[in-house]
Amino acid sequence: MSARIHYTKPSITELEVEYATDAARHGWGERCYEYLGRFERQFKAHVATEFAIATSSCTGALHIGMAALGIGPGDEVIMADTNWIASAAPIVHLGAKPVFVDILPDSWCLDPARVQAAITPRTKAILAVHLYGNLCEMDRLLAIGEQYGIPVIEDAAEAIGSSYHGNRAGSMGIFGTFSFHGTKTVTTGEGGMFVTNNPSLYEAAITLSNHGRHASQPKQFWPDLLGFKYKMSNIQAAIGCAQLERIDELIEGKRRVFATYQAGLKDLPGVTLNPEPGGTQNGFWMPTAVFHTQLGIKRKDLQAALNPEGIDARVFFHPLSSLPMFDACPKNTNAYDIPERAINLPSYHDMTQADLDRVIAVVRKLYGAATREP
Ligand SMILES: *Cc1c(COP(=O)(O)O)cnc(C)c1O
Repeated sequence: MSARIHYTKPSITELEVEYATDAARHGWGERCYEYLGRFERQFKAHVATEFAIATSSCTGALHIGMAALGIGPGDEVIMADTNWIASAAPIVHLGAKPVFVDILPDSWCLDPARVQAAITPRTKAILAVHLYGNLCEMDRLLAIGEQYGIPVIEDAAEAIGSSYHGNRAGSMGIFGTFSFHGTKTVTTGEGGMFVTNNPSLYEAAITLSNHGRHASQPKQFWPDLLGFKYKMSNIQAAIGCAQLERIDELIEGKRRVFATYQAGLKDLPGVTLNPEPGGTQNGFWMPTAVFHTQLGIKRKDLQAALNPEGIDARVFFHPLSSLPMFDACPKNTNAYDIPERAINLPSYHDMTQADLDRVIAVVRKLYGAATREP
């Protein structure tokens, strides 16, 4: 039996080990922020934003940014029903309410028409999450935001390597967030980033992220307001610096994996993978296959076919509104239907052709069996 194919794992070289070792040996005292400053500078340069704050997670970056925007009790934030809970939790923690709208059938990202229809006087922000690397329709969302005076936030945790008409995901909204969790395209083990081009929002966010201590406050240990503690460590940042030196290679790895799946499955009618519309680039964090209803291939069939072959089969996100802590919104028909006939395929950067062929063969075999049935 060949080795198990995990759905994802980081790409770590001697460079990451060297930098982390250096940070552990020397990155203290006067040098305790050296890798952190470097990581933030490198990241800003990559996404082309003016400001960046490294955080302990993307969840923390969202929490700080939403608090800096003044989101609080009674407010509503519109987002796609199809998402990981990390994007919704900070809204709830701030006392506001996530309003779940349906997704588009092709990008699996929030439907701008549904967003517009969900706007109320309480709407405080629109949260655009670029699902699995697929880009939201930013032109339309930003136009809606402008029309109603509502900021658009980008959760680009899954969209390293994705760009929309020349703009990197995460750089177009009022602020953007990223995750460097071990499953993401760029990793620091755990970690995140807040980016913005807005000086006053940056000011508010950096103060909140430092336990409410304003940079101009001369008194020691004097918080000016109640903030948060979501900082990244210098050792994590050291790993991040190495990853950013290799970022083109990391993105290329993800794109190669996707291209191989695409080539291996493209002759199967009714199987759709992540889209890459003209004028955009998809970082393809998570190659995902959706099977047309008529094929009758369900999530449980995919899991039953892949798991015994030693291949991780990760389920497409359940609708957040189907979870016990939220009210169900079954009218979000795409969000409720698509996960039932979809699967995330394994996609670590340096997956071998043989591993990719193994996954493709299992999917093709299942497809063949399903389509041969009367
Ligand atoms: C991974 C992920 C998060 C959470 O990131 P953490 O760094 O684990 O907090 C948030 N949003 C999206 C879209 C993600 O994929």
